[in-house]
Amino acid sequence: MRARSFFISTLKEAPADADVVSQQYMIRAGMIKKLAAGVYTYMPMGLRTIRKIEGIIRDEMNRAGAIELLMPIVQPAELWQESGRWEKYGDELLRFKDRHDRDFVIQPTSEEVITDVARQEIKSWRQLPVNFYHIQTKFRDERRPRFGVMRGREFTMKDAYSFDRDEAGAAKSYDTMYDAYCKIFNRLGLMFRAVRADTGAIGGSRSHEFQVIANTGEDVIAYCPESDYAANIELAEASSLLAGREAATETMEKRATPGKEKCEDVAEYLGIPFTKSVKSVVLAADRTNEKGEPLPAKIVLVLLRADHELNDVKAGHIPELKEGFRFATDKEIEAAFGSKPGYLGPVGLGEDVAVYADLTVADMSDFCCGANEEGFHYTGVNFGRDLPEPKAMDLRNVVEGDKSPDGAGELKLQRGIEVGHVFFLGTRYSEALNATYLDENGQPKVMQMGCYGIGVTRIAGAAIEQNHDDKGIIWPDAIAPFEVVICPMNYSKSEDVRNAAEKLYRELQAAGVDVILDDRDMRPGVMFADWELIGVPHRVVIGDRGLKTGEVEYAARRHLDEKVMVKVDEALDFI
Ligand code: ATP
Ligand code: MG
Ligand code: MG
Ligand code: MG
Repeated sequence: MRARSFFISTLKEAPADADVVSQQYMIRAGMIKKLAAGVYTYMPMGLRTIRKIEGIIRDEMNRAGAIELLMPIVQPAELWQESGRWEKYGDELLRFKDRHDRDFVIQPTSEEVITDVARQEIKSWRQLPVNFYHIQTKFRDERRPRFGVMRGREFTMKDAYSFDRDEAGAAKSYDTMYDAYCKIFNRLGLMFRAVRADTGAIGGSRSHEFQVIANTGEDVIAYCPESDYAANIELAEASSLLAGREAATETMEKRATPGKEKCEDVAEYLGIPFTKSVKSVVLAADRTNEKGEPLPAKIVLVLLRADHELNDVKAGHIPELKEGFRFATDKEIEAAFGSKPGYLGPVGLGEDVAVYADLTVADMSDFCCGANEEGFHYTGVNFGRDLPEPKAMDLRNVVEGDKSPDGAGELKLQRGIEVGHVFFLGTRYSEALNATYLDENGQPKVMQMGCYGIGVTRIAGAAIEQNHDDKGIIWPDAIAPFEVVICPMNYSKSEDVRNAAEKLYRELQAAGVDVILDDRDMRPGVMFADWELIGVPHRVVIGDRGLKTGEVEYAARRHLDEKVMVKVDEALDFI
């Protein structure tokens, strides 16, 4: 590629609303352009990186035996109603109507559609196992789109879905994907960690997140350097709260109305994971009169910890609520509380809870309010039934220096960016959509499923968070928009320089190197600054002075001050 025939557009300053380095550099380097909150155009420079990320993912998915298809972005509501997620997904699901007044969604993920494909196409045990994937645009109406492509609303995800005859088969499919993910993130050139993740109400231990290590990450990971133990702290914290149950009860008794259930109990009862990502959950209980006729939904409010986003909770991590309960719609919330759901925003300590309690007491009943051992307040609702004891979890407290649950050493904490997620689904969707196959004895059986996501566009941001300096991006070779840039000095004036640059350019191209020749004829300082910002990992500078002794200058983007003079004839081999 020649710079003149390409499109390069760099900026000196990042816009004021760019809040992390990756976002600032991607905008300044002309890789992305903001269209609306969380919605970006991938400019030519950025698209090259995205395509390379997709290429590596596609390659490893194919190697692992997954089969590519392409499911629509627009999906009919009926399938989502069938799975129950139409009600449960909440505001992150973008819904709209067509001209015939039929409901549709823009897919945030594709479990429903793929299960619909499977139930039509897979008839016999002979067709299993099978793993379908696609790389497709997603839309999640994130409450707080931020960090550029890392938490966009429109973004690209690779999502795969495995179908197996039984749990053992599904476990194997899961392991195959886990291994493929390790290969993918290695090839992408990223420092990452696979960590145990919260399986929420699905239960079981089979859920791992792939976390790119970076200080700006939104997640916190507990890991043990002496072993391969690692977990997302969301999970660890949940258990630490359970471990600290007695202390919590004590604190609570000081403040709470006696005799009422604690929020964790309510959460457990409803099948909501009591984790740090649970901020507040508004539920509706469906009611009927004695004749079985529907009554207006009874709104109940469960308020948990105050850290993350409501939509995280609504978004699929809680596939099943207890029968009779569902998430309240925005309209219902407004009607019940007299304020828009946005009002349920940041929840702090005491006073806020009191507000909610007041609001809710008018509507409810039995209400309680308390605080856990960290002083976070929570409120819960007494459903008038016996609540089960929370299930024991296999994790301990996660203060740095604590003993690792596997006993191998002490735990350390670090921040990470979730770039991939593998999840054993069991029959959550296959049962709801009745996806069955006939086994060897001709008996219908429900398929066992797994789902596996990778945030293609988020990876670009995560790679930058991990690889940058004060001049700009330092791309890992595999996903750099270009691997090598040739910077000729006085390209138009010096024939020697031009000839040497053109020759090296042709040689590198012939050798299959993704090279760009900067023929823009710019002042050296401006030209260097551009490529340092864009982050091309290898740079060759060709000037008259070097050519006098038959040399060009090479520098790696990561070590710009370690310049090496290389013989012109050896430049190709050297690079
Ligand atoms: P998060 O916890 O960051 O909200 P998630 O757990 O909701 O992510 P999954 O449903 O597991 O996301 O989706 C699979 C992958 O898609 C994630 O691991 C992440 O890499 C990517 N992803 C999810 N949400 C976004 C987003 N808003 N913008 C960009 N990528 C995203
Ligand atoms: Mg999310
Ligand atoms: Mg997550
Ligand atoms: Mg996830």
